[in-house]
Amino acid sequence: MDKIEKSEQEWKEQLTSEQYEILRNKGTERAFTGELLHNKETGVYSCAACGNPLFKSDTKYDSGSGWPSFWEPISKDAVMLKLDKSFGMVRTEVECAKCGGHLGHLFNDGPQPTGERFCMNSASLGFKKEG
Ligand code: FE
Repeated sequence: MDKIEKSEQEWKEQLTSEQYEILRNKGTERAFTGELLHNKETGVYSCAACGNPLFKSDTKYDSGSGWPSFWEPISKDAVMLKLDKSFGMVRTEVECAKCGGHLGHLFNDGPQPTGERFCMNSASLGFKKEG
């Protein structure tokens, strides 16, 4: 995959301040505030920063966490997983593989068939309805 690299100034100009705080500074939106949390339309979720396709709607589920949750990415190459030891926790960070933008975290309490929960910030995602 071709990576996208931009200066922080370029990202700042392109993204909203909330998106910048999450995607570039690894922030987290407040639970139950995301626009796409309750979205149940059929389509594809992509990176809000670079458009990289990330998740299909049929892998989205209601985890009760307050953040859009998916049990599988659209492909293994779509995301990058990183060890995150911030805030005194050991977590797996999920980044967009194309632009390095912070998307959220991965937990192992998701539903079958994967048992994984990709816990994403709505502000890090775009959505394109099918058709
Ligand atoms: Fe991206």
